[in-house]
Amino acid sequence: MKVHDKEWFQKMNHEATWFTIMAARSIESNDGEVDGCTVCGDKPAKEYELPSKPSMPHVLLCDDCLQIQADIHEHHFKEIKP
Ligand SMILES: [Zn+2]
Repeated sequence: MKVHDKEWFQKMNHEATWFTIMAARSIESNDGEVDGCTVCGDKPAKEYELPSKPSMPHVLLCDDCLQIQADIHEHHFKEIKP
């Protein structure tokens, strides 16, 4: 499963529907490209996991959205090292 593929959308829809709504919008704003930030579509975006919710698929986040997730939503994402 890759971030933003069909399987990702199905799984994420069960785990955190909000992210699928944002992802659909961000992909549309990038003319169908799937490598932008899950939340806002900005590039570059890096791949992250949410250790407090291991069943949730990985997301792509830009630096701004990573900060917002931590500050406002208290979601402390951890970067996936390639
Ligand atoms: Zn973003």
